[in-house]
Amino acid sequence: MQNTTVIRNAAWIASWDGSEHQYLRGGDVAFTADRIVHVGGRYEGPASRTIDGSRRFVMPGLINLHSHPHTEPASKGVREDHGVPEMYDTGLYERSCAFSLDEPGREAAMEMAYAELLLSGVTTVADLSSPIEGWLDRAGRSGLRVYVGSFFADAYWKLSNRHELGFDWDEARGRRELEASIRIMDLAEQHPSGRLRGIVYPGQIETCTESTLRDAAAHARETGRPLTTHLSQSKLEFLEIVRRHGKTPLEYAADIGFLGPDTILGHVIFIDEHPDIRWRTTGDLDRLADSGTTVAHCPSPFARYGHAMAHFGRYRAHGVNMGMGTDVAPHNLVEEMRLAIILARVMAGNLRAADTRELFRAATIGGAAALGRDDLGRLSPGAKADLVLLDLHHPAMRPARDPLRTFVFEAADRAVREVFVDGEQAVADGKPLHLDPDGAGARLEESQARMLAEASERDFLGRTAEAISPYSLPLRTL
Ligand SMILES: [Zn+2]
Repeated sequence: MQNTTVIRNAAWIASWDGSEHQYLRGGDVAFTADRIVHVGGRYEGPASRTIDGSRRFVMPGLINLHSHPHTEPASKGVREDHGVPEMYDTGLYERSCAFSLDEPGREAAMEMAYAELLLSGVTTVADLSSPIEGWLDRAGRSGLRVYVGSFFADAYWKLSNRHELGFDWDEARGRRELEASIRIMDLAEQHPSGRLRGIVYPGQIETCTESTLRDAAAHARETGRPLTTHLSQSKLEFLEIVRRHGKTPLEYAADIGFLGPDTILGHVIFIDEHPDIRWRTTGDLDRLADSGTTVAHCPSPFARYGHAMAHFGRYRAHGVNMGMGTDVAPHNLVEEMRLAIILARVMAGNLRAADTRELFRAATIGGAAALGRDDLGRLSPGAKADLVLLDLHHPAMRPARDPLRTFVFEAADRAVREVFVDGEQAVADGKPLHLDPDGAGARLEESQARMLAEASERDFLGRTAEAISPYSLPLRTL
């Protein structure tokens, strides 16, 4: 057999037995071209490359269902402590209106975020972004498996005061964005890397007309592409959909045919039962579970505002398919897994609300199910060769009595040494092979400086960036 790589005598393997992940110790993993051919005892076939697995934990690559690599790295140092009290502390709308990153900054941000994703063990990512020149080539070159979601919406957020979410509607623009999105998804699927797919991405439940949401869902179902949007991500959004339709956002989405096993909803925090909402119905979890809709759970951006899902274990117990995403910087899915466990326990007042095994399943099998892929998120013969190798001798991983638990709770990205996607190596010795995050960092700093300098022209109160998001410490002049 040609072009076969064998990871020999791996200390630990997270293998898939058809219904759950399980540990194996001292076995081999082999893959030929883009497919796994062996997980288990000694591999006896010919191999063109052998990797010593004696210090490695071999696990499937993680699946990130929700991220914005083109913009979020530019919010470092800006958004972490920022929120608007009159908006229940979400800072999303104020920042989105005041800060806009230029195209060189977006390219640099993407380069940095893709590297960060690979280095935290992600092999498949849904990149939900507004299109820029060179997107597909950079995605193809990165080594990642990328679901390309090109933003479209009929309205952009617009503020005229501190307490009200306003909208700038332009349906003709929305239609052009939808058409561009379809072209980009078509091109992605023809890309020579073979690792790019489309994901249909109307931006938010409240910024698209009903006909656009229906058209997006129809397009997804005609083409077999997954469908995603942001839903129940803020209390203001919940109240806006109630104001327009007399329904919760999930009730509205269900009634217009937007939910289904191909639908991935970003966030889904502010549902009818959430303690910050206390709506007098309890149908939202049933709507998710009955339709087979997936939640892309991204705890950290919300936790920073003091918000949390209530709670991961409750959604799971209700039969909701849970997947994971990063949404913002850092694009570190392992940290999101850890926070998801901790917040579920805090919100439930119960340690059993979530654990390492459940979150690993969400970040692998849960994500794969949402994308309609039974060949991702698992180590088993026939699956795609998307593998992550952790260094059991990294001090942060020692002692590795239970390596998955140590990875999630202690070591995180520090332990990632090698990553393979589609059988091709994307990370070696803890470094991305096809990306230059150092060079991109300098370019992003220049673009962030421009973005911050222009804030006073964009902000509805004409404030400077420093007035909107003050430094964490007072800046003393010498
Ligand atoms: Zn998002």
